[in-house]
Amino acid sequence: MQKTKLLIIGSGPAAYTAAIYAARANLAPVMFEGFFTGPAGGQLMTTTDVENYPGFPNGITGPELMSLFRQQAERFGTTFIIQDVNEIDLKSHPFIAKSSKITYAADVVIIATGATANRLDIPGSREGEFWQKGVSACAVCDGAVPLFRNRPLFVIGGGDSAMEEAIFLTKFGSRVYIVHRRDQLRASKIMQERALKNPKIEVLWNSEIIAIEGKDVVQSVTVYNVKTNETTKKEAGGVFFAVGHTPNTAFLKGQLELHANGYIKVFKGTTTSVPGVFAAGDVQDHEYRQAITAAGTGCMAALEAEKWLTDQGLSLS
Ligand code: NAP
Repeated sequence: MQKTKLLIIGSGPAAYTAAIYAARANLAPVMFEGFFTGPAGGQLMTTTDVENYPGFPNGITGPELMSLFRQQAERFGTTFIIQDVNEIDLKSHPFIAKSSKITYAADVVIIATGATANRLDIPGSREGEFWQKGVSACAVCDGAVPLFRNRPLFVIGGGDSAMEEAIFLTKFGSRVYIVHRRDQLRASKIMQERALKNPKIEVLWNSEIIAIEGKDVVQSVTVYNVKTNETTKKEAGGVFFAVGHTPNTAFLKGQLELHANGYIKVFKGTTTSVPGVFAAGDVQDHEYRQAITAAGTGCMAALEAEKWLTDQGLSLS
């Protein structure tokens, strides 16, 4: 078993910021960046241009931004482990975290495992049906493949992700439909405006896709209007889910308090129900979910962790 003072679980703006602060405080943090649970760097790795992260007036791509964060964490002495934590024991101290290959004991733990894009269970969308044969939960990852070129594409959802994905897909599809279950979008005004003024984008209001059909790949969808009860079959080359996220907390069940929707409960700042365990970023934030707020809570978690170690007399151990 390896031992560290401070263990960070997850990667992304919150985790890397926590690592930068902890490393600069000489805590020599060890970070489990994840592997099977998603790309190291988190959700920004599947985003195109980030225009609202302060300090980059001309924008920056999500992967570039995360690469810079990571380099900064590395520069001050973070140890990276490209593995997932599958099992954790927060009931005794030091805390124990295990991947399939390595076990760490840690005096303090920062959890920043983020959240994962949701999928809907629509007939035709499942594994073995058209999942990854025209159905995707990430336009930015999959949108450029030939399958989608010059075909009508459908994005389900009404949030910023749906707008962003629809705008991105106009580069490839012949037409992009946003299928939204209500008559009002949840997205920010600026993203709504960008999508709505794009001549290639059309919103299908009060609508749901109830079936995805095709032969080897997606060829059509059936759209149901929840107000008129009408169903319409439309030619389709692809269907993209942009219907929110689920926090990556499955490995924490029974170890610390979670909200009913699975997000970690935080009390003051980033403190959790377990003293010495802090939570930062989307894993504890179901409201703001921005890179900048994640980075902010990552900083808070590192400062609070450092203070906790000092208060416990563990900072020099
Ligand atoms: P979101 O804001 O939670 O939106 C999810 C959308 O999916 C909502 O419109 C919701 O409909 C719809 N939805 C949820 N469950 C559904 C279901 N079962 N069937 C049909 N539709 C369903 O999630 P998000 O768009 O991923 O955004 C998450 C956060 O990231 C937000 O804070 C957002 O601002 C941020 N973000 C920002 C940018 C940017 O600024 N460029 C880009 C992407 C994301 P209802 O509206 O009816 O609930």
